[in-house]
Amino acid sequence: MTNATRIDGKAKAAELSAVISAETEKLLQEHNLKPGLAVVIVGEDPASQVYVRNKKRMAEACGFHSEQHTLAGNANQDEVLKLIADLNDDTAIHGILVQLPLPGHLDEHAITQSILPSKDVDGFHYINIGKLTAGDTADAFVPCTPAGCMLMIEDHLGSDLSGKNAVVIGRSNIVGKPMASLLLAANATVTITHSRTNDLPGVVAAADIVVAAVGRPNMVKGNWIKPGAVVIDVGINRIDVEVDGETKSKLTGDVDYDAVSKIAAAVTPVPGGVGPMTIIMLMSNTLRSAKLSLATGVSIGSS
Ligand code: NAD
Repeated sequence: MTNATRIDGKAKAAELSAVISAETEKLLQEHNLKPGLAVVIVGEDPASQVYVRNKKRMAEACGFHSEQHTLAGNANQDEVLKLIADLNDDTAIHGILVQLPLPGHLDEHAITQSILPSKDVDGFHYINIGKLTAGDTADAFVPCTPAGCMLMIEDHLGSDLSGKNAVVIGRSNIVGKPMASLLLAANATVTITHSRTNDLPGVVAAADIVVAAVGRPNMVKGNWIKPGAVVIDVGINRIDVEVDGETKSKLTGDVDYDAVSKIAAAVTPVPGGVGPMTIIMLMSNTLRSAKLSLATGVSIGSS
């Protein structure tokens, strides 16, 4: 069996970024409207700071108006809700994202549900989840990570997945469940697996498409995979490796890339696969929200 295609999420994200930048420029020229993205972060979690910085950088690269709102780690629920209410009312803002996880004393559910569905570019509001689950994918803001995974799957298998078996490993609201909804909407036969699934390797063995979103380094082995499958690795895990007698930290996915790439048709690497696609889908959702604001008149304006 030959080596699988390495699905280059970084290159695809760069292509999409060029398209988004061009459309942003056109929106500005024709309607004097700049997509506005507000990112809210509470506290000092280092990983969250990196994610927020990357999102801001990409928004600026696409020509967006970009705001970062940093609240102290001990900010209370009312302060966060007040900030979101202000951003909901702000006509220069088309997308609001609250970086998760929030500090434990805050009610994450109440906060994410307080974002207007029309500005919910993360796709976590129940209105958007409902639309996606009902198969109304065209009208929903779809969560960015599964949306990015879906584009990579479509590149390899086309947009109609009739007759394909898809196995999603992980059932989170952010990745696993919306991923399953998207695959189902594309006519795949979908199985969602999780920590209580029996014989996971046996289930995965029947899959033409595998999406791994667990958070366990190199869990998915080469001998689990059906020859010719498309494998999407969502996991981001930091592990220690020995390099020349020194311990170094390295990012790795949920998939044993080297072993799986000997069996599969195509695999995403970590890093450079799903991660860059997630950020670009956030930009895509924000641009879409800005365009929709023209049609609805809900949020016209630019900075
Ligand atoms: P989560 O912790 O909310 O969910 C993990 C899921 O894995 C759960 O549904 C659980 O049932 C399942 N699981 C745990 N152990 C299992 C096992 N032994 N067998 C089968 N299933 C098992 O995580 P999440 O938010 O969905 O994220 C999953 C991974 O994806 C993490 O590594 C996270 O960092 C990464 N992630 C990456 C991106 C990206 O942009 N690349 C975005 C979101 C999440």
